[in-house]
Parts: sequence; structure tokens; C-alpha cells
Amino acid sequence: MDNRTCLITGSSRGIGRGIAEHLAASGANVVINYRSSTTKAEDVVEEIRTGAGSAMAAQADVTGRREVEAMREEIHDEFGPVDVLVNNAGITQDTRFEEMTREEWDQVIDVNLGGVFNVTQTFFDDIKTAEEGRLINISSIVGKQGNFGQANYATAKSGLFGFTRTIALELARSGSTANAVCPGFTETDMLAEVDDHIQEKILEDIPLDRFATIDDIASTVRFLASEDSSYITGEVIDVNGGMDL
Ligand code: NAP
Repeated sequence: MDNRTCLITGSSRGIGRGIAEHLAASGANVVINYRSSTTKAEDVVEEIRTGAGSAMAAQADVTGRREVEAMREEIHDEFGPVDVLVNNAGITQDTRFEEMTREEWDQVIDVNLGGVFNVTQTFFDDIKTAEEGRLINISSIVGKQGNFGQANYATAKSGLFGFTRTIALELARSGSTANAVCPGFTETDMLAEVDDHIQEKILEDIPLDRFATIDDIASTVRFLASEDSSYITGEVIDVNGGMDL
């Protein structure tokens, strides 16, 4: 990954942070994008630089096209064009569908799908002209199976499947690839928000009998970002402990 520039949206914490750490450890320049956690993002940058890696922080709410375009300028000034884009930023607003407000629906669709539109389109030319550019979309097992109280989130996450396959086709002639990673339930702040008794119920459905670690997901993304995955495109890679067996 030496001299490759990787933008990971939502990498101030959680899975995004883990992905950034893995890519930086492989020699890439990583861009730590975040919405509001400036201190956390700066901590990630410092940690990577302390380990002799290369990183910069870039604040931009993925729902704001102008902010995303301004981030592109910052990244180009610091590292040049982006070779690898990981669309990871995501939120939940859980409630039963019959009680879900239009605002809760729109917020989740706006970040989890609208953000992917804004960031992918802004960096499309970078990925297309890169030598073996990579687009990696972080979906969720919830996009495949649905989940009680997550109609908005499941809709957004399953939308990424069609998006990934289509962009894979549109990128293919350039030699760049697009894939999705579908994590199962992973030990992050997002999972911590789920009630304990629901976490226990989820655990009963995981054949490997544990939640995913951030490293489980990040190492799969690192593989897809590397040249080892050159002939894989349009795929959805499950990392879920056997949940859909
Ligand atoms: P997390 O711990 O809640 O972290 C979310 C990250 O996204 C933070 O860095 C946050 O930035 C950023 N973010 C949120 N809204 C943003 C916006 N509008 N613009 C820019 N950045 C934004 O989440 P996570 O659990 O690591 O999840 C990461 C991805 O994996 C998400 O797409 C999620 O849907 C998916 N996923 C998670 C799980 C799981 O069990 N955790 C399972 C399957 C899939 P700030 O810190 O500034 O808020």
C-alpha cells in the first residue's frame, strides 16, 4: 500500500478507525474523515504518526456536498488524488416502523446513502484514474436480513448492494474495482447503544459465538484495498461469524 492514498469516511472511531489503522500499518497515507469528533480524529492521526505512518484529519459532514468538495481540495493539497475510498460513515435511528418519523427515516437515508452518493461522486474521477483504484462500501448484515426497529437502516444498507454492483460495472474498464463488506454485529459504540438483553439474543444467533472485533472487519477491508484483490469486483463479502448459514 506504499504511497497509496486512502480516504475512510467516519474514521474518528469504531470500524472506520480500525480500517485506517490497518491501512496505515500497510504503508498507505490515510485520511481520517469525521463529522464532529475533532479530538478523537486528531488522536487517531497522532497515533498513526507516532507509529511512523502517514495520516491527516479532514472534517466534512458527508451529507454536505460542498464540505465534501472542500475536503477533496485539502486531500489533494496534502497527499494528491485518492486511490482507495472506503464509504464507512453511518448512523442508526432505531424505532419500530409504525412509530418511525419521516425525520428519522430521512436522517438515516441521508447519511448512509446520500453521503455515499456525495463522497463517491466527488472522488469518482480519482478512483477511476488511479492505478487499480478501489471503492469499498461498508454495508451491514442488517441490509441482508432486516432487523426489528431498523427499517431505515436496513433500507440504506441493502441499497448499497445495487450501488456497489452498478459502480463496479461503471469502473470496470478503468481497472478499478468496487466491493461491499457486510459486517455482522461488531464491538463499537453503535453496538453499545443496543440494549443488553437484545445483545444477548443476537449472540445466540452467531455460530462463532462472539461479536466481530473491529480487526475482523478491518483486515477484510485491507485485503480488498490491496493489489491481492485485483480480480474481485461487484462482490459483497460477509464478515459475520456465520450468521446467515
Ligand atoms: P460508530 O462507532 O458509531 O462511528 C461512526 C463514525 O461515522 C464516526 O467516525 C462518526 O464521526 C462518523 N459519522 C457519522 N455521521 C457522519 C457524517 N454525517 N459525516 C461524516 N462522518 C460521520 O460506527 P461503527 O459501529 O464503527 O460503524 C461504522 C460502519 O459500519 C457504519 O456504516 C455502520 O453502519 C457499519 N456497521 C456497523 C456494525 C456494528 O455492529 N457496529 C455492523 C454492521 C455494519 P463522529 O465521531 O464525528 O460522529
